[in-house]
Amino acid sequence: MKKKFSLKDHSSVFVGLLLGFSIMGAASISILGSSHVGGPQIVRIGNAVIPLSSIMGVLQTFSLMLLIIMGCVDCVVGARLAYFVGGYMFVSSIIGMIRTRNLEPLPGLFNCIMALIAIILIGHLMRKARMKSITDYATGTLNNIGFLEYLTKKIKDKKQGSLVYYQINNFRAINDDYGHDTGDKVLKITAARMNKVIGKDGVVGRIGGSEFAILVDGRKDANELIGKMFDSLNEKMIIDNGEFHLDCYIESNAGIACFPKDSNDVTTLFKCADLALMQSMKNGGNQICVFDENMQSRMHYEKEIEQLIKKASDEKYFYLEYQPQFSISDKSLRGFEALIRMKLPDGRKISPGEFIPVAEKSNLIFSIDEFVLDFVTREFAKVINESKEKVTISVNISANGISRPEFVSIVETCLRKNNFKAENLEIEITEYSFEESQEQTVKNIKKLKEMGVQVALDDFGTGYASLARLMNLSVDLLKVDKSLVDNVEKGEVNRDFIKSIGSMGHLLDCKVILEGVETDSQLEFIKNLDCDYVQGYVWGKPMSYKNAKDLIG
Ligand code: C2E
Ligand code: CA
Ligand code: CA
Repeated sequence: MKKKFSLKDHSSVFVGLLLGFSIMGAASISILGSSHVGGPQIVRIGNAVIPLSSIMGVLQTFSLMLLIIMGCVDCVVGARLAYFVGGYMFVSSIIGMIRTRNLEPLPGLFNCIMALIAIILIGHLMRKARMKSITDYATGTLNNIGFLEYLTKKIKDKKQGSLVYYQINNFRAINDDYGHDTGDKVLKITAARMNKVIGKDGVVGRIGGSEFAILVDGRKDANELIGKMFDSLNEKMIIDNGEFHLDCYIESNAGIACFPKDSNDVTTLFKCADLALMQSMKNGGNQICVFDENMQSRMHYEKEIEQLIKKASDEKYFYLEYQPQFSISDKSLRGFEALIRMKLPDGRKISPGEFIPVAEKSNLIFSIDEFVLDFVTREFAKVINESKEKVTISVNISANGISRPEFVSIVETCLRKNNFKAENLEIEITEYSFEESQEQTVKNIKKLKEMGVQVALDDFGTGYASLARLMNLSVDLLKVDKSLVDNVEKGEVNRDFIKSIGSMGHLLDCKVILEGVETDSQLEFIKNLDCDYVQGYVWGKPMSYKNAKDLIG
């Protein structure tokens, strides 16, 4: 990749050049101060006669301008040199005037004063703007730009340390139940407590909604320090005169990676800390995990999968299968869920369960989402438009995909281009879609619904989908997760749970489908659970387009 020229990267060369010019200016002042001994001096260029003082004046103005630039460039050395050289010019100018008893360099002296004032003022404003650009408005800590710069510098300076990735899980529940103001206050107190515990042993930055990064000095035991930080965060918070116990509301997790041991590349280091964080989340709430070799091999595996996804997009290794959905009461066809597949030229198949989570960690998922939308609407347009019964095609959209501002127009373009009716399309989202960029996600869903597109909430029953949000969004379909269906024969409580989801769905005016129904005996139990549809191997496995078309009839 071609690297952009950056002043900061070349600051030493830049400062060196400016210093050279400035010394020239300073010398010119000294000469100017002493050149009048023995009468005015002149320089001849062809027929032109130019007083030496004029040339020196021009040189001085030029070097003062360079000094101002040097003082304002985001470089401490540059600013210090600017003050030093400017000061030297000022003093030597006065000494020169006193020695020669000649006030001719006086305008130069004023120029020098003006330049120094400009350096101080502009430098101050620039530093203020820079502080703003690297500070997080809600917590007052570094933001992700500032933190990344700091971390990069530490690594470049060959320092040792630990990068800690800290996440408050389910933070949106606080925003949902208490409002964003309280959410912001919780974040502010959290950051203040983190800073208090970390103190001089590291630096804290907020790098996402409820995600923080902490750089811990190499001489400190990061695990121990973060443990203390967890304890401090779990102490009660007083917000608007009310007590707030973070630990009964949410869980927090942390992943630790060390530099240079695990990596001395910032992106890789973040990936290591992220993998450790994932592992700590798998272990449960309030856990700290340190990156290790197993995670390292997982990372290599993910890199390999990432390369395969890129190749699959270019060389068309992706194809789709369609799993039918039926009405429980009369087994009539509701529609199909489109499920992506990857087949390599050597015949090896990689399941979406493996490559979708990897694609979700990068922007590769966007092209997969777009590919599926376009492919499905193109493939099914004719057969669905000609069908007497309404058939719905469901497409899975990743959490990041649904929060993209351009998502709705991508759907619109697909529908128009492929002549596919909006009411025959369903977008499947999971509740993780609301973790980040919630506002844009809600906006997109509302727009899609206005267009006539249906919205389904996938994997329902595995997370914490709040009733308030469901009512607010009015989704069309709740998809009860297979893990709940698996237990349907194992006891009344499990059946009651599904039944209550069915009733709740109907209260909210949405239909309910049971996923992963595999056997006839499960089917028997399911018939009495107040749910509408079934999607599972019992009535139909994912199938080719040709078979799906035949089923539509
Ligand atoms: P999902 O959306 O929950 O899809 C249902 C998964 O359950 C599918 O696995 C399907 O084949 C499987 N399944 C359906 N009925 C049964 C059953 O009776 N028994 C069993 N054991 N499994 C059943 P698949 O196709 O491997 O997909 C896995 C996940 O990958 C999907 O879970 C979805 O999250 C993701 N995915 C699949 N296709 C796409 C896609 O086009 N885009 C995106 N973003 N994600 C996709
Ligand atoms: Ca799905
Ligand atoms: Ca599902």
